[in-house]
Amino acid sequence: MRHRAFGFDPSLGDEFRRRLLEAREVLLRSVAATDEEIADLEAAPGPGDQPDHAAAVSTALLASRLAGQDKRELDEVVAALRRLQSGTFGACESCHNPITLARLRAVPAARYCLHCQASQEVVP
Ligand SMILES: [Zn+2]
Repeated sequence: MRHRAFGFDPSLGDEFRRRLLEAREVLLRSVAATDEEIADLEAAPGPGDQPDHAAAVSTALLASRLAGQDKRELDEVVAALRRLQSGTFGACESCHNPITLARLRAVPAARYCLHCQASQEVVP
């Protein structure tokens, strides 16, 4: 199993976790219908916490209301949070080289390095 073999600085994890959680909240708030649902979102795992099962369930429920591009964006954000958890964040999923920090700061949920992204762009 690959574990931080790509050199992503773990001390940057909190910065990206925070940004990804914010991005997720913005997307989910657009479909959160009640105060309870918003409270669930705010109970989402913070830096250093393990993911909370109840919050994950409510996220899935809300995500089911998202459609099209928003759903895709949320999927990307959630996938990036999983990569942060598993220690593979920051590595290109295609060539496994590190994604540059500048690119991650611009697109925290990026799966691919710029080179691979350019070849993925043709895929719908
Ligand atoms: Zn790549």
